[in-house]
Amino acid sequence: MRSRTAQEIWDAALGELQLQVSRANYRTWLEKTKGLSYQENQLVLSVPNTFVAEYLDKNLRSLIEKTLMGITQSEVRVGFTVDSLSSAVEAKPGQSVNLPAVIPQSGNASRLNPKYTFDTFVVSKCNRMAFAAACSAADKPGVSSYNPLYIYGGVGLGKTHLLNAIGNAAVTKGMHVIAVSAEQFTNEFVTTAIRERKAEEFRSRYRNTDMLLIDDIQFISGKEATEESFFHVFNDLRDADRQIVLTSNCPPHSIPAIEDRLRSRLEWGLSAGIHPPDFETRLAILQAKARKDGVELAPDVLTFIAESIRQNIRELEGSLNRVVAYSRLLQTVVTPALASEALRDISDRHPKSPPAPLLLVEAVAAYFNLGIEDLTGSKRDKQTMLARQIVMYFLREKTELSLASIGRELGGRQPITVSQSHKKISKELADNPEVQQAIQAIQQSLR
Ligand code: ADP
Ligand code: MG
Repeated sequence: MRSRTAQEIWDAALGELQLQVSRANYRTWLEKTKGLSYQENQLVLSVPNTFVAEYLDKNLRSLIEKTLMGITQSEVRVGFTVDSLSSAVEAKPGQSVNLPAVIPQSGNASRLNPKYTFDTFVVSKCNRMAFAAACSAADKPGVSSYNPLYIYGGVGLGKTHLLNAIGNAAVTKGMHVIAVSAEQFTNEFVTTAIRERKAEEFRSRYRNTDMLLIDDIQFISGKEATEESFFHVFNDLRDADRQIVLTSNCPPHSIPAIEDRLRSRLEWGLSAGIHPPDFETRLAILQAKARKDGVELAPDVLTFIAESIRQNIRELEGSLNRVVAYSRLLQTVVTPALASEALRDISDRHPKSPPAPLLLVEAVAAYFNLGIEDLTGSKRDKQTMLARQIVMYFLREKTELSLASIGRELGGRQPITVSQSHKKISKELADNPEVQQAIQAIQQSLR
């Protein structure tokens, strides 16, 4: 293999890092970095500003270096160069970078992520209601039947995406939008209203917006003063028919430790849940993303990824990136086998230990309505023979057992018989519906 370029190595690393740090952290600190040079085990990254360089140096260096080590199989030290400066700032371990005063702007439309729009959101039965409600809120903001609009669901299912899509649409129409996370809201409240005693200023900034979007509202529960101030902002805005949209990891009635008067207000408008994506949705999201990124992947690869990652769309996207980065790194076309290799550690994170041989034998026997002793015995009717071949196929595919030990397990059969059975079933999987159905049903029962 020719030597890898810095960018290829870094792309592969980003694919992995995306799965290891939160989306927010990824976006803030990693997304805009590039691999600049790779020499003598030092990888220099270009970063957009010294703020990012310092953050990466202090907080993510060891994770980055560990990840790079996994990819290059050697120790790698990472350095940072700031993109926009002519004089490179290289951060060495333990040495800090001069930090200009970069203060993140607070609470205005610029916080919206322009990538998250309605166009790029794949609609399916898992999120249709939330999507429709979000479109209404963007289209005709302030209507009391969906004010507030409360979108809830598990991690990585598109809540932040929809929230930003609403905000982006509203900004296009010239509305003033405040978009914050509940954490930012809390911090801002604590700094402005409490520490600097500017409670009035804080409240008036929020009450004067056309639309207020708060992400992950569950975080304000238990913070009494913040909750109280949110309660007032909420009332001000709703009285003035300004649209409020909130997201949360659970429906209003399940947020722990919030005051009843606030809870009941959260239920005034419309609550819409987003549910984990089904297979078709996962596949559609992968196809859309591949198209957007201009990568071409065979349908069986996309199917493989959609089958491997089930719960979380963020992970689904991360997995696609990782598979693509791997294939670039290895300069080979992506096959399901390569994808499986690339995603190995991820599946490890949801450990799926290989099924015990006995379990496989039982599953096959159950499907064919036979006893285990039939499979290990000498019955030679058509049905039993087929079942036996399918057991051999499964044992070969799903366990580490050798041909010889599979033969032994199944009542002392020859390795060559095992090998022939495996071949026969593999072939029939392509064109024999009876075999296809059996394999699918057995696989299902193993899950
Ligand atoms: P949440 O806020 O629910 O944790 P996000 O909105 O951050 O999840 O979504 C995680 C990732 O998945 C984002 O990159 C987002 O664009 C993508 N995503 C989620 N749902 C969809 C969807 N229905 N269509 C397209 N992309 C989606
Ligand atoms: Mg989110």
